[in-house]
Amino acid sequence: MTQGAERHEFQAEVKQLLDLMVHSLYSDKDIFLRELVSNASDALDKRRFEQVARPELADAAALEIHLAVDAAARTLTISDNGIGMSKEEVVKNIGTIARSGTKEFLAQLKAAAATDAPGLIGQFGVGFYSAFMVADRITLVTRKAGTDGATRWESTGDGTYTIEDAERPSAGTSITLHLKAADPEHGLHDYATESMLATIVKRYSDFVGYPIRMAKADGELGEPLNSQKAIWDRPKAEVTEQEYKDFYRHVSHDWTDPLRSIPVRMEGTFEAYALLFLPEKAPFDLYSPEMKRGLQLYVKRVFVMDECKELLPTHLRFVRGVVDAHDLSLNVSREILQKDRQIQLIKKQLVKKVLGALDEMKRDKPDDYRTFWTAFGPVLKEGLAGWDTQDKDKLLDLVVTHSTKQPDGLVSFADYVGRMKEGQDAIYYLTGASKDAVARSPLLERFAKAGHEVLLFSDPIDELWLENAPRFGDKPLVSIARGDIKLGSDEEQQAEEAKRDERKAELADLLIAMRAALQEDVKDVRLSTRLTTSPSCLVADADDMTPRMQRMMAQLGHAVPAVKPVLEINGDHALIGKLRVLHLEHKDDPRIGWCARVLLGQAQLADAGEVAAPEAYNQAVAELMLRAV
Ligand code: ADP
Repeated sequence: MTQGAERHEFQAEVKQLLDLMVHSLYSDKDIFLRELVSNASDALDKRRFEQVARPELADAAALEIHLAVDAAARTLTISDNGIGMSKEEVVKNIGTIARSGTKEFLAQLKAAAATDAPGLIGQFGVGFYSAFMVADRITLVTRKAGTDGATRWESTGDGTYTIEDAERPSAGTSITLHLKAADPEHGLHDYATESMLATIVKRYSDFVGYPIRMAKADGELGEPLNSQKAIWDRPKAEVTEQEYKDFYRHVSHDWTDPLRSIPVRMEGTFEAYALLFLPEKAPFDLYSPEMKRGLQLYVKRVFVMDECKELLPTHLRFVRGVVDAHDLSLNVSREILQKDRQIQLIKKQLVKKVLGALDEMKRDKPDDYRTFWTAFGPVLKEGLAGWDTQDKDKLLDLVVTHSTKQPDGLVSFADYVGRMKEGQDAIYYLTGASKDAVARSPLLERFAKAGHEVLLFSDPIDELWLENAPRFGDKPLVSIARGDIKLGSDEEQQAEEAKRDERKAELADLLIAMRAALQEDVKDVRLSTRLTTSPSCLVADADDMTPRMQRMMAQLGHAVPAVKPVLEINGDHALIGKLRVLHLEHKDDPRIGWCARVLLGQAQLADAGEVAAPEAYNQAVAELMLRAV
């Protein structure tokens, strides 16, 4: 530490990340170079873009990335003449991680088996810090374009770093890695060897849009190590799958391969190219408002904007990639983008292509589609819940879920309709808190007996979009958890109703007594048409919100009108028969109230996995046990 240098502590989260890097979990340590080159390329993009508005920022030298090796000192320096950083920016960008969810992410990372860790790290994009996998000390000298002073930052990857004023002849950033001893057995190559660096650059950074050159000790520059081809405007036939994959890693900072690459050409009234990717895994912050989302926007190969959200709707926020719109102005701002007609047209095309690719995947590659759906299904369904979504029919075609016929498989609406029983005119579904809870719900009993398949939904978003009562083709979607459900032929229904009327008459007094006992908690106690084996279940009245929907709205902070559920009783259950007799003989026997309480509790347990009033429930159970032993 030289005089005038200040020592700073890393933010706690960064310390943990550094710790993970130093004791690297990742076997392929070569990727540190891709990360640093990618940062350099971003910095050059920013400078090139800034120059449009502020020509005085232009550098005399061409925008490039240079690698310099000092074999004797065992250092590798990566320099760029990009935008550079001010001192404050260094502290903010290199000392902290601003994104929320970092803590949860780190906990997840710690819990994950070492084999999963690279994937998780990839979702997070540790970028710069990955250099600590190969270096035990890193020195960064940077000067922001348009300013005179420079800043020197240094750290050994322990808990602290130092920062001080420095000199740099021109704007840009140089990062010097003091390399660890090579250890090829553990994936740590000798990065002080030029041929090794050339191979890694070719492998990971070939498409980077700026020359990457070796700077020799005598100041000579070598030939570019990368071909710099913009991959998105080359015809699909000329690009290899590997090139697409490498480019994906470059734009997404993901360490895993994409599930699909989707090249898009738009030629006609306007010219634009896009290269979109469907990732394989969900990023850890997929549901955070701060998620890094959106595409990179270029205008004729000049980088204009990162995280351009205007190009895709929110329910496709998992799509990564680039769009190069040839006819846009370089000075385009976010405000202009929102109104720009061409952007709207591009967006429409991109949505069409993505949904088309998904439809194809669903048809031809069911395993891939399952991977996709597991990661992003709930996000896609947000589109069905949104009031302004176009293409709802196409989205509905893409929905798959478990069903009573295929509890572990994934069933689409088309599959379901294709095997609907004769005379069935609605698509039956049930929503619940978890896959297991819905699969075990007593509400399914009658449907199982009648041989009707029921679609099972358990993502929180399902309540929302199904609430809009969508139709699939001419078939309405009907929740089996609300209102009256009529099953079977007209005759069967009539017979059922006659039987029910009879039971109703028998049980009328008992039901009144139970209603009186539970009046605080339920809207009504009724005879059920859905149960065969369970004694009770909870349903919503035809026009009421389901109990889960109410809970969800309350969790989201909405004032929910108190809608009580309806408790349905299985008139054929032996217990109910006994209670009827008991009620006939001893109208005021307290066991009737206790049993009613327990029946309600059981119905709540089956519905939500918890009872709403545990004290009352426990007391009723205790009283009944006292009399049973
Ligand atoms: P990410 O690239 O995912 O944002 P990094 O940890 O790799 O995360 O980098 C953090 C930030 O530091 C970058 O977003 C950028 O603002 C800044 N930075 C890193 N390298 C450079 C560079 N060579 N020139 C200018 N800024 C840089």
